[in-house]
Amino acid sequence: MEKLKKEVTIVLLAIMMTMVFFANAQAKAGCNHKHTGRTWIIAEKANCNHTGRKKQLCVRCRKVLLEKVITRTKHKWKLTRKRRTRYDCMKCGGVKLKNEYGGWSYYFP
Ligand SMILES: [Zn+2]
Ligand SMILES: [Zn+2]
Repeated sequence: MEKLKKEVTIVLLAIMMTMVFFANAQAKAGCNHKHTGRTWIIAEKANCNHTGRKKQLCVRCRKVLLEKVITRTKHKWKLTRKRRTRYDCMKCGGVKLKNEYGGWSYYFP
């Protein structure tokens, strides 16, 4: 009787380990259903100084299916010096200065 109990325990343990193994394998392989529902989330917001990132997830398992760069937004330049020699960005605090060659030099915080 004692021996039988031991065998049952071993069999149960084996079944449990197999189940854990398969659960892990499935998690690693990702979902095996069809990704019919997709949703975009913003991983990193873009502003006029940085590009952002967005991810497309499966709504069922939250697996990342696609990742895209969000293009930078435009600076919002405001003239802050007379004779059009300095502009400040109202959004990121960047500065645009007219240089000695007649072009623009940019400074960002
Ligand atoms: Zn999925
Ligand atoms: Zn800016």
